[in-house]
Amino acid sequence: MRKQIAAANWKMNKSLSEGKDLLAEILNSDLSIGQNQEVIFAVPFPYLMETQSMIGGKSGMFISAQNCHHKTAGAYTGEVSVDMLSSIGIQYCIIGHSERREYFAETNSMLLEKVNLCLAKNITPIFCCGEPLQIRESGTQNEYVAVQLNESLFQLDADQIQKIVIAYEPIWAIGTGKTATAEQAQEMHAHLRNVLSARYGMEIASKISILYGGSVKGNNASELFSQPDVDGGLVGGASLIASEFVQIINALKK
Ligand code: PEP
Repeated sequence: MRKQIAAANWKMNKSLSEGKDLLAEILNSDLSIGQNQEVIFAVPFPYLMETQSMIGGKSGMFISAQNCHHKTAGAYTGEVSVDMLSSIGIQYCIIGHSERREYFAETNSMLLEKVNLCLAKNITPIFCCGEPLQIRESGTQNEYVAVQLNESLFQLDADQIQKIVIAYEPIWAIGTGKTATAEQAQEMHAHLRNVLSARYGMEIASKISILYGGSVKGNNASELFSQPDVDGGLVGGASLIASEFVQIINALKK
């Protein structure tokens, strides 16, 4: 079975001590993390190492950066490179979150550069795609996300694509409290898998985890995750509340 993943995206929230309290509460909870399951914490850059030492190689738990720069090194004041993340042992990096695309003008071609740099350093990209509301309303969301995959991922070879985790995050559902229905999520995830299959074949496409993101909560996670092509969630707001995120982790398919 594909890896089932609950990934927390803290975004720009929490002080260090608040973050440590949150993490401690999650770690001390009654968690059931199966063999094919992973829990990932995408915390702000300054907390990566502290989070790593708290998690300390716990089985099935990993740390992620929320972003990286698309160049290897140099005069990019304030930026963080993939080499830097690699040098502190980070295993995952979110690439192309819609907030990065929108507020920091990240393009599909920049994201392609980031994906390549991550893979070269054995960092797994959690590649985000998803359509804005007007695209959903015009009924062209399938074409829209296919272009995002095509322009940022489809230069990868068959070995490389299997190292990617995809997160489908409809922009109209992020932080809005408006979740896609389980049917809408399944329909899009099946479409994404078909797009992957058309490029790489179904054997490879069926190995790639596709997470859903957009107002996942403790009380809707089970229904979303029970869909055959939904392999877990990328979670913003609800990952900041220990009891909610624990419920989400425990809703992953076994
Ligand atoms: C996200 O930021 O990736 C996200 C899905 O946020 P939220 O869960 O708050 O909608």
